[in-house]
Amino acid sequence: MIYFGRRVSFSMGHRLHNHALSDAENRAIYGKCNNPNGHGHQYTLEVLVAGEVDPKTGFSANLPLMDEILRREIVERFDHYDFNADFPEYAGVISSGENLARIFWDLIAPHLPLARLRVEETEKNAFEYFGENR
Ligand SMILES: [Zn+2]
Repeated sequence: MIYFGRRVSFSMGHRLHNHALSDAENRAIYGKCNNPNGHGHQYTLEVLVAGEVDPKTGFSANLPLMDEILRREIVERFDHYDFNADFPEYAGVISSGENLARIFWDLIAPHLPLARLRVEETEKNAFEYFGENR
């Protein structure tokens, strides 16, 4: 089994906020990431897909399909949008890197044999998710 990685990058706004907590509690927990008007990141999303090497091509993954899925499910959906303002389906979701990693996984996993997904929020923050079935 070989693991093939591919990355995409996109800009997205968000605000860390838990509606179940008071404004003071939110400020205490999230600091400036709780600023009412939000802020943005240049996110990098990397997926690792598992596959056998095809002896005919030497490849383990369908790269055009991976690019199509990442473009359609992630970049076109989220690039230059505000996660907390523009997606009613995610209303109330705390847009932490941890939760975003799971949301991105759920969007991609039906289409690709995902082994690992990594979300880089900043140069210093990264989140990795391997799915629930490990
Ligand atoms: Zn942030």
